[in-house]
Amino acid sequence: MLPSDPQPVLESKPGFLPRERIQDLLDHLERSGYSCVGPTVRDGAIVYQRLPSAADLPVGVSDEQAPGSYRLRATGSPRHFAWANGPQALKPMLFAPRETLWRATRREDGRLTFASEVPAPRPIAFIGSRACDLAALALQDQHFLGGAYPDSCYESRRKGLMIIAVHCSHPAPTCFCASTGDGPRATFGFDIALAELDEGFVAHSGSEKGQIILQAMGLSEASPQHLAQAQTQTERAAAVQVRTLPGRNLRAALFSNLEHPRWQEVAQRCLSCANCTSVCPTCFCHSEAELAQLNGASSEHVREWDSCFARGHSYIHGLTIRPDTRTRYRQWLTHKLGSWHEQYGRSGCVGCGRCISWCPVGIDITEEAGAICSDGR
Ligand code: SF4
Ligand code: SF4
Repeated sequence: MLPSDPQPVLESKPGFLPRERIQDLLDHLERSGYSCVGPTVRDGAIVYQRLPSAADLPVGVSDEQAPGSYRLRATGSPRHFAWANGPQALKPMLFAPRETLWRATRREDGRLTFASEVPAPRPIAFIGSRACDLAALALQDQHFLGGAYPDSCYESRRKGLMIIAVHCSHPAPTCFCASTGDGPRATFGFDIALAELDEGFVAHSGSEKGQIILQAMGLSEASPQHLAQAQTQTERAAAVQVRTLPGRNLRAALFSNLEHPRWQEVAQRCLSCANCTSVCPTCFCHSEAELAQLNGASSEHVREWDSCFARGHSYIHGLTIRPDTRTRYRQWLTHKLGSWHEQYGRSGCVGCGRCISWCPVGIDITEEAGAICSDGR
């Protein structure tokens, strides 16, 4: 069983966490051995980093997102999670953008010794995960841990992870998690889930370790009014989403349209910059390289994020298989929305909308998929 596989729902009544007790939650997590990581405002965006105190959460801040555009604005609201999502999900916490996998050292007798490098971080409590990001985490778990050879770096970080999810109440116009079936309510893969209301949070556990934290906090039971408010809020968050994909499985439609003129049209706008794959919480392409010391005494084997939009990513034995942007964009979309079904049993898109907001020219995956799949070619 993978760590984010659906767990049996625990029979505990939802509690109510008053807003002024958020720091108390962080203190309980820290005392239980976790370093808290959560959303903070940095460089004009909401990003996840070490959260020394609840005062670092983005209170009274919301986001405005559109194709090619992301802005924060002050709202004066007491809420800490009244925004959709920033450029990051959980991906960089588990699949590091750059890391050394092993080192080779030349001994005095000339022979080489190899030593793998597996990180041993302090367990992390990740605060603020959204439903779309938990769906992406389940896919990354499947990719990195599901096969015969689990990735030891990912595994080491993953096993110490505690997830405090927050149901999304403020989707951006770029979000479409309701269309992919992944949100806005978190239904699996968390230890604790919070629904934020003006005066505090409805809190329920999704695992034994989450239940232990909530019990230790001695919360009062959430009232029927709190539960009804939380429910209405989630329903509204689904209802206001305006974007959709033309279907959940687009494999047949995409692969029967490999010569559609839209591929050339989108290639004229696309910069092959790879922003979309960097912010995508499910993309996992990487490259590996040997970095040798000039004196030949040692060498490290480094893995770093790569992208199917990079020219070098399809270079094999003197041949670049995807030499232009048309073939690279087509590879991204047909893999993400098509052949992922064969590999992972579902699409590789969880509807977070990041690739739309963070594309510098505002290319919209829902619009491109719609144009290619919906005209019956
Ligand atoms: S393809 Fe775009 S919308 Fe889908 S999961 Fe990736 S970043 Fe989010
Ligand atoms: S679709 Fe947008 S973000 Fe992705 S490579 Fe092209 S220009 Fe960059």
